Amino acid sequence: MRESLEFLLFDWLRVDALNDRPRFAEHSRETFVQVLDTCERIARDKFAPFNRLVDTEEPRFDGEHVHLPRATHEALAAYVASGMLAAAQDHDFGGMQLPCVVEMAANAFFSRASVAMSAYAMLTSGNANLLMAHGTRRQREVFAANEFAGRWFGTMCLSEPQAGSSLADVATRAVPDGAAFESDPLGPCYRLTGHKMWISAGEHELTENIVHLVLAKIPAADGKLVPGTRGISLFVVPKWLVSESGSLTGERNDVVLAGLNHKLGFRGTSNALLNLGEGKFKPGGQAGAIGYLVGKPGNGLRCMFRMMNEARIGVGIGAVMLGFAGYEASLGYARQRNQGRPITGAGKDAAAPPVPLIAHADVRRMLLAQKAYVEGGLALALYCARLVDERNTGNSEQSHQAGVLLEVLTPIAKSWPSEWCLEANSLAIQVLGGYGYTRDFPLEQYWRDNRLNMIHEGTHGIQALDLLGRKATMNDGAALTVLAARIAASVERARRDENLAQPARELAAGWQAVLGATQSAWSTDQPEDALANATPYMQAFGHTVLAWLWLDVALACAGRGDDLAQGKRAAMRYFYAYELPKNAAWLAVAASRNPTCRDMHDDWF
Ligand SMILES: Cc1cc2nc3c(=O)[nH]c(=O)nc-3n(C[C@H](O)[C@H](O)[C@H](O)COP(=O)(O)OP(=O)(O)OC[C@H]3O[C@@H](n4cnc5c(N)ncnc54)[C@H](O)[C@@H]3O)c2cc1C
Repeated sequence: MRESLEFLLFDWLRVDALNDRPRFAEHSRETFVQVLDTCERIARDKFAPFNRLVDTEEPRFDGEHVHLPRATHEALAAYVASGMLAAAQDHDFGGMQLPCVVEMAANAFFSRASVAMSAYAMLTSGNANLLMAHGTRRQREVFAANEFAGRWFGTMCLSEPQAGSSLADVATRAVPDGAAFESDPLGPCYRLTGHKMWISAGEHELTENIVHLVLAKIPAADGKLVPGTRGISLFVVPKWLVSESGSLTGERNDVVLAGLNHKLGFRGTSNALLNLGEGKFKPGGQAGAIGYLVGKPGNGLRCMFRMMNEARIGVGIGAVMLGFAGYEASLGYARQRNQGRPITGAGKDAAAPPVPLIAHADVRRMLLAQKAYVEGGLALALYCARLVDERNTGNSEQSHQAGVLLEVLTPIAKSWPSEWCLEANSLAIQVLGGYGYTRDFPLEQYWRDNRLNMIHEGTHGIQALDLLGRKATMNDGAALTVLAARIAASVERARRDENLAQPARELAAGWQAVLGATQSAWSTDQPEDALANATPYMQAFGHTVLAWLWLDVALACAGRGDDLAQGKRAAMRYFYAYELPKNAAWLAVAASRNPTCRDMHDDWF
């Protein structure tokens, strides 16, 4: 994985060119490699050996405290000590001014070693980043700074028992808190009441405080909640109250663990139902969780989206890394386990010794599929992370293009690895046969952990609605126009290479088919027609993007005959021969606005 990562970063994405920009001027390829080395080492020593332990010893609530294995405390302490929580921040703020693409690449080692333990850190830096973008100076200095220092960890509290995909139905209320509303130096102060469900890292004692970012609605003058997402605001709700200088006051806020959820995977991350404002604690002598408004009232979802978009690329990388872990484990197994004999023209020689699994073409098919999914997924995630740097530090045209591309690629960066790197985990289990199905090998845990990724941060179906319903059509299809130009540029270069001319033609035709299906899906201008097949559309869109990235990666291998380059070319050929043709079926139902699912009656099931 390390070799592939460095190839994609330096040979394909030319990440060291970022050092020409003032923000990254103090960096070089050497400093980037040092960061990768450090993270790889900590992940190997402190995270990986305990990944199974945190799965079997899941978080336990004794009625008062949540207990996590000691290994989780030690792993996160090592992560904090590395300075990675603030890696992308300004030097002035204690950060390293690392590009997003290098930060995400370095964090990938932790996802591979133990995705569940690393979640505490990823949530914390995402939370603090949001406060840096939308918080007041005091909120940044008190909350974000303590999170970057690892003294406090963070959460994101969007979901409620009745409001998951539809955040418009958030029912947590926030009312101004008397005199403190105007005068609190930490921001306009509110009292919150409600329930937040599924909150990852919502309760633990890894740090002295937990900083919850909570979506809630401020009632209108008649006391009613504004319907829809417009009424949603964002609040910072610390578990323990803090002074304006950031020290703990010792007073407990009224945000309380109602219970832990027991999950299929990701068991090393605690997951909580939180009650706000039920009066178990009475800060200032009164029930109601104290929360400080972040940004403007009614702007909560917009602020949260900043965190969610980068979090979605992070989910994609997490899915890729679980896929990678399974791929490497099954590859190692297939090289060692002897089983069966080769089929030759003369039949099988029963007296011959058995061969390693990897000698069978069908096993190589399963390994090649995994390689195409996980290395392709890694390329996709790094490409998007590189776009984040382009958007943040490029000139105005580069920044604009990157922003537009991120709009349309973010649903793919999240959904494609969630689906196909999960499939990679399933194939990894298959490579091991019965052994893969046992807990003696780590594959089943990787699969269980990865199964979350199609569910959280916007389900698969919701990503598809976002892609076909909004992103593909917004501003008269502006995002597709930018993407089309990038695909065309790769096709043009590949056409000049006799080995790549054929896939280049297939990609060009595949992309035209996606554009045609987009138009046909919307030709009646009826959302219910177009969106009934949004998920197959997204699958085809994702496979086309991956075909493009694989072609582009193959271009970066030109002139090289080493194993890495040969392997990349073989994975590209696999993708074009076995995967891209699937698009025809997915696009056919989208383009014809196939009504089968839409017209199915409830009582026919
Ligand atoms: C382990 C775990 C960790 C999580 N961590 C967090 C966290 O830290 N913070 C947080 O706020 N949330 C978190 N979540 C919540 C997660 O984001 C939600 O589970 C997710 O948004 C889906 O909501 P839901 O579970 O209510 O499912 P529902 O919204 O009820 O969806 C159920 C199914 O119906 C489909 N569906 C729903 N609406 C539509 C529609 N309009 N059109 C078509 N299909 C639709 C969905 O795609 C899905 O397949 C976590 C969840 C889990 C399981």
